[in-house]
Amino acid sequence: MSTAQQARSELLETTDEQLEDIVMFADPLVMRGLLYQLTGDEELRTTVKTVRTQVMFAEGAVPASEDDAALIRRKALAFLKSYRDSGAGPIDIGPRDRLEESIRLATGSQPGPEHMAMLIEELGLDPWVRAHQWSKEPDPARLQDFSVTVIGAGYGGLNAAVMLKRAGIPYTHLEKDNGVGGTWFRNRYPGARVDSPSRAYTHVFGANVDLEYPFCPREQNHAYFDWVANEHGIRDKIEFGTEVRALTWDEDLAKWKIDVSGPDGDRTIESNAVITAVGFLCQPNMPNIPGMDTFKGLSWHSSRWPEEVKPDGKRIAVIGTGSTGYQMIPELALTAEHVVVFQKEPSWIFGIPGYRAPYPPQALWLERNLPFHKNFSRLRGVDVTSGWDITTDRDPDYDGDPKAISDFNKQMRDDAIRFLTEKLPDENIRAKMTPDYPVWSHRPVLVDTDYNVLVALNRGNVTLVTDAIAEVNETGIKTVDGQQHEVDIIVYATGFRANDYLFPMRVTGRETTLEQTWSETGTCAYRFCMVHGFPNLWMLHGPNTIGGLAPGPWVELATQFALTCIDRLITTGDGSVDVSERAYRTYMAEVFERQRTKAWSDPRADSYYQGQGGRSSAVMSPYPPDVIFKLMRYPNFDDLERR
Ligand SMILES: Cc1cc2nc3c(=O)[nH]c(=O)nc-3n(C[C@H](O)[C@H](O)[C@H](O)COP(=O)(O)OP(=O)(O)OC[C@H]3O[C@@H](n4cnc5c(N)ncnc54)[C@H](O)[C@@H]3O)c2cc1C
Repeated sequence: MSTAQQARSELLETTDEQLEDIVMFADPLVMRGLLYQLTGDEELRTTVKTVRTQVMFAEGAVPASEDDAALIRRKALAFLKSYRDSGAGPIDIGPRDRLEESIRLATGSQPGPEHMAMLIEELGLDPWVRAHQWSKEPDPARLQDFSVTVIGAGYGGLNAAVMLKRAGIPYTHLEKDNGVGGTWFRNRYPGARVDSPSRAYTHVFGANVDLEYPFCPREQNHAYFDWVANEHGIRDKIEFGTEVRALTWDEDLAKWKIDVSGPDGDRTIESNAVITAVGFLCQPNMPNIPGMDTFKGLSWHSSRWPEEVKPDGKRIAVIGTGSTGYQMIPELALTAEHVVVFQKEPSWIFGIPGYRAPYPPQALWLERNLPFHKNFSRLRGVDVTSGWDITTDRDPDYDGDPKAISDFNKQMRDDAIRFLTEKLPDENIRAKMTPDYPVWSHRPVLVDTDYNVLVALNRGNVTLVTDAIAEVNETGIKTVDGQQHEVDIIVYATGFRANDYLFPMRVTGRETTLEQTWSETGTCAYRFCMVHGFPNLWMLHGPNTIGGLAPGPWVELATQFALTCIDRLITTGDGSVDVSERAYRTYMAEVFERQRTKAWSDPRADSYYQGQGGRSSAVMSPYPPDVIFKLMRYPNFDDLERR
């Protein structure tokens, strides 16, 4: 495990004073883990203390005191000086058997074996650690006869294509849009950016890409996915502008028949296997408000913002206040004449300094000049889900604040209320912006501490409306109190059909449609990717894949799962693999049971996190990273039926 780098000429020219400044911008725990790995300095392990506490809207580790952070910085400074003075040449990652302890020091936690295995992969020291390893050499004729269809070219579909290409498995790649990136191709509204750390928002094979922001705006995310498609030579095989309408399993052929509409009209493709990567926040969820079609101004769903339309000098209505609405409002307010915000329910808001800003130059210097800094930064980003259970579980013995569900949940609530109080002097507005439901029963929103939706609400050109909308009319929006709000543009920031997996494709398996199956069983997928009766079909970002992991491992592990099964089909000559009904139902029952104690099972919130029609949540992961990793990384063929 060694990586050779060129001597770093930039480091050779950096003065002691500059290094002293640079280390002040380092994440102390990134430094702790990395320096321990590179040097084995025992003081980093024995003297430095960490505590686990609230970090953003999750649970994570920080140095126990400023003294602990200062000690790490001193050691970082000493290391950088001595590395520079020794010529800043190639450097090795250090002993493999030290890695687990380095990870424990960087995360301030004691991950169990499965979690540790996952975190080692996530470091990205081996960019192809999640590539498929054949169980045995495949017969070339059988391999060339096999075909996989990948649907979608976002985070998930691009990963599947890269891995299929690498494994030498023939595939067809279909994408209904005219570019790659999915979410980041579509969502072009002002303010669109990630709200999870960007270092952890790449595939493992992209762990070393350069990033300009800790939380990248849309353009940078889109550029990353363009890089994936170009760098890995998969763009030419993508059939853009081609939408899959229906999938029908043909038992005699043991193949899927795939009805597609593309630039050359309609056709049907046959494929042994299908990997769907159609996203869960992809199909707009448009409201049904009387008069919507009579509006004479401009209107669109937030994911269809026409880039040429600028908000400058316009009167804009934003309907909906989830993450998208709250991201968009402060940006619109900067140049619009007026922004009217229509809010049915507020979201919990958490502040983070520098959310909207690029990395400071000192942080970028570290990324360029300190070997493996990107890998350990990525580890810290990934680690935000390690406290998933503490963050989202209801404590049955908790009897404190009725609007909280555990001590930790109460801590997050108090923190969010402090932030509201600090940013919103007007009590009336503050009351309207304070949710009634516990944190995490609805999607929490991360914002910049300095400039954000709350600050924007204090501006003279932003109005918060919480009365229900009665109608849309030719010139604006009327609320039930009779008030008319005249606007030029209406943006429906009303979210996506997150619960309608694979919608609007019609998927017909051995006996019935997927829609019918899920209407009977509830929406679920065995190990997040397979449904009984639908052989040779795997979903990336299928049911219950929000939270627990970052999107990268979700789609990478599901791809690995699919390729392990496809490997079996190719190397054994079997025609199909399906999860048994017993395994599917047993698994589902466990998921539904586990959901009962999660924050999003709280009946007070109303969002796509909640199960539909009183059912258990179809979108949220009830499991923490170690359980997910075990379920996906090691398929259990006793649960799978092959024919
Ligand atoms: C505004 C916004 C911000 C987000 N921010 C974050 C964040 O900060 N952190 C985070 O973890 N997640 C975030 N997400 C979630 C995000 O969707 C995932 O992180 C990730 O991009 C999903 O990748 P995907 O490939 O599964 O789906 P998508 O990116 O949705 O891609 C699906 C692709 O499939 C194509 N497709 C769909 N149906 C068909 C069909 N029938 N035929 C052909 N092609 C089809 C679509 O056109 C699309 O290109 C955000 C989502 C949104 C909408």
